[in-house]
Amino acid sequence: MAEQRVPRALATAAAAKIPKMARANLSATVRAKDEGKKVAYSFIVVGQDEIMRAMDIVPAWGESFSGISAAKRDAEKYLQRAEADNFSRSLCTYATCNIGFDMWREELGGAMPPDAPWGGIGRPDMILGTAQQLCDPRYKWPQATRHYLRDVPVFIGGMYYPAWDPKIDHKTQEEYYVKYNTAELHRCVEFCEKHTGKKMDWDRLASVVDLTDRTWNLFVETYELRKTIPCPMDTGDAMNTMVPMAFMLGTQESYDFFLALNAELKEKIAAKQGVVENEKYRLLWGAGLPSWFALSDFQYFNDKGAVFPVETTYRCYEPVYNLDLPKTSDPLEHIAWRWVRFWTHWYDKARKRPGSTPAVERLIDYIEDYKCNGVVFHSAFSCRSWHAGILLQAEILKKVYPEIPVLIMEGDIVDISSYNEADTHNRIDAFIETLEAYKQKQR
Ligand code: SF4
Repeated sequence: MAEQRVPRALATAAAAKIPKMARANLSATVRAKDEGKKVAYSFIVVGQDEIMRAMDIVPAWGESFSGISAAKRDAEKYLQRAEADNFSRSLCTYATCNIGFDMWREELGGAMPPDAPWGGIGRPDMILGTAQQLCDPRYKWPQATRHYLRDVPVFIGGMYYPAWDPKIDHKTQEEYYVKYNTAELHRCVEFCEKHTGKKMDWDRLASVVDLTDRTWNLFVETYELRKTIPCPMDTGDAMNTMVPMAFMLGTQESYDFFLALNAELKEKIAAKQGVVENEKYRLLWGAGLPSWFALSDFQYFNDKGAVFPVETTYRCYEPVYNLDLPKTSDPLEHIAWRWVRFWTHWYDKARKRPGSTPAVERLIDYIEDYKCNGVVFHSAFSCRSWHAGILLQAEILKKVYPEIPVLIMEGDIVDISSYNEADTHNRIDAFIETLEAYKQKQR
């Protein structure tokens, strides 16, 4: 039985629209069959969004479903099912939550499990993914799902970028990666054509790619408005406003959402309306997916006068005009260039600071640009890839800013069993005291 909770107070009207949008995304997957559309399980920052949108394939995002289940504190029943079939609790809980749900639906002969959050997620006709250098579940999650959904075809392409090596100029390698990624995207189109029975409309794809470019630009330009003091929107809201980027990229609705958010933030700035009335501390959310069941912790920070004007989480985009993308008539090659240039965006900077890394240079940029006086990381135990670098980043950051307060919170994205609200709030209280002492010293 899901625990009833008071949702976090949102600073922006735009963020308040998100639950309806996320729910509509899920509903679209459930009614797709009646509308004669194909559904594809897919993954965040997959690089294939525009292909799906141009071919009218309805994306069904496992991370979104698992995050919603966690936010409703209703994921345990799925985690337990996966665990009963020997999936360890220490595996990615986005994956195990979704797999537990799939197992249950197959046991019911394809019927929706009872009381599925927001009506559940539609059964896929295919699984699309890319094995980015992001995490092993990008390979293993689809394989495990296929164990239960035997009839569902899987396409996992590669979407790689040059690995960080301070001794190597990645620009000497990037063309090779782009060529490979472009070929993989073409293979993805062939796979989609085969399983939808439709041909790609290349003009339509080109216009979706153009819309995505404009959305990347607008997204960052909008988020940069948060540099203003007092900050008009913080990370607590950004954990919601990620939905139109992460799960609706390549749609007009996504672009229009950020247009409205941009206008709303400008109004707040003109009225000097901040997230908190008396802004005392500006924090960088340095890394980590949030505990979806404990988003109210952002409110706890706000109540202490702390705001997060910037975060790295879900900000996997840079304005396209900053990426200097080579011209190409192939929209898939353009997508490949866009991602390779984004993932390597901080490489040149990192090479100039011995001992640094691109992730740390990004944190430094944000600390300076958004005038942050503290950094908070969230280390989710079940994500072994992205969250694994947090300790190293914090250590290197301390060499650049020896006294900056850093808090590393520990928990999970979906699994609530390791979360203790009182302990978390005690740690935040102690961190706020450190922040206050640091601020006094800076005066
Ligand atoms: S990045 Fe982490 S949380 Fe996301 S799918 Fe991979 S392992 Fe799971």
